Amino acid sequence: MSTTIVDNLRIIQNRINNACNNSGRPTKEVRLLLASKTVSPEKISIAMQEGVTLMGENKAQEFKDKCNAVAEWNPEIHFIGHLQSNKIKEVLKWCSCIQSIDRLSLAEKLQQRLSFENKEIDVYIQVNTSNEESKFGVSPENAIELIKQVSKLKNIHIKGLMTIGLLSSESNEVRKCFKLLKAIQKEAIQLNIPNVSMDELSMGMSNDLEIAIEEGATIVRVGTAIFGERIYPDSFYWNEQK
Ligand SMILES: *Cc1c(COP(=O)(O)O)cnc(C)c1O
Repeated sequence: MSTTIVDNLRIIQNRINNACNNSGRPTKEVRLLLASKTVSPEKISIAMQEGVTLMGENKAQEFKDKCNAVAEWNPEIHFIGHLQSNKIKEVLKWCSCIQSIDRLSLAEKLQQRLSFENKEIDVYIQVNTSNEESKFGVSPENAIELIKQVSKLKNIHIKGLMTIGLLSSESNEVRKCFKLLKAIQKEAIQLNIPNVSMDELSMGMSNDLEIAIEEGATIVRVGTAIFGERIYPDSFYWNEQK
């Protein structure tokens, strides 16, 4: 099993390097995030032993149990799942960035908690670029307005945008999603909003990371291609009630 994870990581790193080369980007511009939902701490540790330092979890409850087990690697942990406001307190214990801010009400509750704890946090705004009902994320039309609103919350620092592209074998349709996220990033940069930096574009997963890198991704989030198929379908994580 461990050799499989190590081999898979090499393959992924090659795919990232090739995509960077093909689009004339330095490989250090793109970071690999381990999408580690459902994956045991033992398996995550194998990947960390290979030098990966960034991981993303989807559920507060699930991570709680893994937290101590991976602590020795001192990973940078991002939250990438749908965040319910009653889980904010838990998530703040272990993550340094929330990639899934998609509504003002959530950001306001987060701000309240941060100011109570006297803490600050980095966030990305999650945009639903595929416009699928089942996906979380602010609609592309409302993204700029949400960025402006969240920028006023002083303990929250926007560092970029996140999206889940269309799950499709039609690469042109997938590419449109990533182009749209890039376009929103450009628009936000031009507005020069205080307390907003737009350096990060978190997009691309096991099946579409090349397209995402060609369109400007700075973080690709990879699970299946490293750890194998999950026992739960993605709908378990993506379709829960808002
Ligand atoms: C599960 C998940 C991923 C990784 O998906 P794979 O297809 O397994 O690589 C990326 N981003 C988010 C938000 C996820 O929930």
